[in-house]
Amino acid sequence: MQVENSRHYLQRWLAEQNIKIPIQCAVVLANQKTSVHEAPTEMQWLYAKHLPLFFHSQPPKDPILTPKQLDTLIQRLTEQQTLYNPSPLKNYYHIEEHMLRTGCLCNLCNAPLQKVSERKWRCVHCDRFEKSAIRQATQDYFLIFETELSNKQCREYLGVNQDAACYVLKNLPLLKVGFILLRQTTIT
Ligand SMILES: [Zn+2]
Repeated sequence: MQVENSRHYLQRWLAEQNIKIPIQCAVVLANQKTSVHEAPTEMQWLYAKHLPLFFHSQPPKDPILTPKQLDTLIQRLTEQQTLYNPSPLKNYYHIEEHMLRTGCLCNLCNAPLQKVSERKWRCVHCDRFEKSAIRQATQDYFLIFETELSNKQCREYLGVNQDAACYVLKNLPLLKVGFILLRQTTIT
């Protein structure tokens, strides 16, 4: 559905630019670790890493646009594209907060993690240790819940005490806003 919508908008945009070219749709997965179960067979699925190989494997066809027209098209597309940033996803998809699990969760089974030390967390279900639990949990927080994180929000979200929340906020690459709120910069 999303791909068909994108095709429709691109077709309309190309028509406005008086450009007639065929459109081939595919779903491109940025992360190679992502696996899709029961993917619709009518759609092509590719990993971003395999795109160069995919383009090289296409049978040669007569060019539709001259190199100059192609340059112009690329320039217009670049100028007119807007940044897609739906976060926080809770608002974007109108999800009630109580339906979401908060805190540090296991990467394997999504069960809550128990704090062992400042850096070490253990899964209550599969007994697995996580070393980057806080980093992962705050990434999820900024993606799903809010774009800002205060000490209080940090305590509530991670289920930790004030000192632990201070430690978390001090040790993540966050932009300090005023005295209490910290806003996400880039967490890598
Ligand atoms: Zn687990």
